[in-house]
Amino acid sequence: MTQNALMIEMTDVMARFISMAGKRLPDDVLQKLAEMRDEEDQEMAKEIYRSMFENLEKAIELDRPICQDTGVINFFVKVGSNYPYQLQLKKILEDAVKKATLDAPLRPNAVSIFDEENTGDNTGERTPFLHWDIADDSDEVEIHLYMTGGGSSMPGRATTLMPSAGYEGVAEFVYDAMVEKGINACPPLIVGVGIAGSMENAALLSKKAILRPIGSQNQNPKAAEMEKAMEAGINRIGFGPQGISGKTSVMGVHLETAARHPATIATAVSVGCWVHRKGTIRFKKDGSYEILSHKGVSL
Ligand code: SF4
Repeated sequence: MTQNALMIEMTDVMARFISMAGKRLPDDVLQKLAEMRDEEDQEMAKEIYRSMFENLEKAIELDRPICQDTGVINFFVKVGSNYPYQLQLKKILEDAVKKATLDAPLRPNAVSIFDEENTGDNTGERTPFLHWDIADDSDEVEIHLYMTGGGSSMPGRATTLMPSAGYEGVAEFVYDAMVEKGINACPPLIVGVGIAGSMENAALLSKKAILRPIGSQNQNPKAAEMEKAMEAGINRIGFGPQGISGKTSVMGVHLETAARHPATIATAVSVGCWVHRKGTIRFKKDGSYEILSHKGVSL
């Protein structure tokens, strides 16, 4: 295959992948929602879960997005140091977003700052959002897609705490954000918390945290303990599915960290809603691909 033909093929695959991810939840999210549904003991909450799963079935049956807000598209790209099409990836992903917007279709959600014009195709200044990591000694590229809805962005915030606030201060900051705006994000939620030396690093880590597989734990035992404690704490707020109260409110709390400055504990929180539309696809250099997030799905 020529390079040009491979780019066209990859653009087409990525457009279909984005479209699919807007209509079908990934395996880990589906499994967790099913567990929460089965454990729920409040009648109204059970009814909400019943309607959520009906919504999910209808989205596939009718080939329509799960939610009217198909979000802003984010890509976290882990590109192999030997992958031959590094320079082409940005254009491939932008063109794929434009194509998926028409084909899926996706709601146009990119509004230019100050001019306040909707671009109509989900691309615009620094949109789709692209974050790059390098994988050493690899000739493949792994693309993590995330579709961020407006409601689920609402509880997001970041701050820089004094060290005297301690990690208790981090938990307090997260609980305050949840109490204030968690209900706007269509629970049950996935909550990502970043801790670092400065706010922008913490914010990026909090976003990466919500992309971790549901049920995974931070490798640091103390961080894993804090994840469990915060999950229990947020569940005690009692949102329940769609905020009508219930036994559980979060699919998980994921913590990601970076070494901090001695004088700061910067922290940030990002939230995903029950329609947690994420997906992972890996391309080899010959253009063949594997979908890692949705088993058994073909595009
Ligand atoms: S928060 Fe999620 S489920 Fe609720 S409207 Fe936004 S995208 Fe849809």
